Amino acid sequence: MEEVAGSNPVDSTLMKLIKDAIHILFPTYCLICGKETQGDLVCKECLKGVERIKGLRCVKCDLPLKSAPEYGLCKRCKKMKWSFDYNRSYGTYSGILKQLIIEFKYHDHPRLAYLLSSYLIELIMEANMSLSDTIITFVPLTRRAKKNRGYNQTYLLAREVSRHLHIPYYPMLKFKKEPKEQINLNEEERLENMKDIFTVNENYIVEAVGKDIILIDDVFTTGATVEGCSRALKSYGAKKVYSFTVARSCEKDNR
Ligand SMILES: [Zn+2]
Ligand SMILES: [Zn+2]
Repeated sequence: MEEVAGSNPVDSTLMKLIKDAIHILFPTYCLICGKETQGDLVCKECLKGVERIKGLRCVKCDLPLKSAPEYGLCKRCKKMKWSFDYNRSYGTYSGILKQLIIEFKYHDHPRLAYLLSSYLIELIMEANMSLSDTIITFVPLTRRAKKNRGYNQTYLLAREVSRHLHIPYYPMLKFKKEPKEQINLNEEERLENMKDIFTVNENYIVEAVGKDIILIDDVFTTGATVEGCSRALKSYGAKKVYSFTVARSCEKDNR
């Protein structure tokens, strides 16, 4: 073992023994394939299966497209008047990335925030935005979801992104009232359901004015949630709202 100046070889051997013992006593397994790992939640092989969205995409909502459309917009964005400036997603909501998000949200693995936030950080860095007048916020959790999950996954993501990029984050958004479950609603019903449901938390009204806001969510599906949040933020004076999501759901064909 290479010796680092100032370190004690006895200490490092002891540390290794302790680590080995912990590993034997508490073995860890990959959440995706079940193989034993060295303390990681996901093995390296499975991580390789997480893919970035490549190729043509809608400039507004990041939906993968089959061919280059007019103005670079998908069918839906052409007809919608979104209040958010754009959405960027790391991958499509499929394969290993989808499994990771399900583990993160529904199977009590808040530690996955470290991994999933690294994807968001990559996206934000690539977006080349000026981060000086920028703040971070996240989609709030309904009371129902909080009760079931015990933690707000988007808050955990936002906190990690904030820590890495040194941009402040605030819990700026809250629900005016509890929204209906989205799962059985179609696109338009989702939009209607979320349109006027968010507002800015009174403690953070001052923060919104004139700011560029990075809005964090896990999955961009119909855009209804991002749109609802963005409307609230802009109505309180936010200059820009940029949505960054871990995954882009592409179930409905809007290309
Ligand atoms: Zn694995
Ligand atoms: Zn679009």
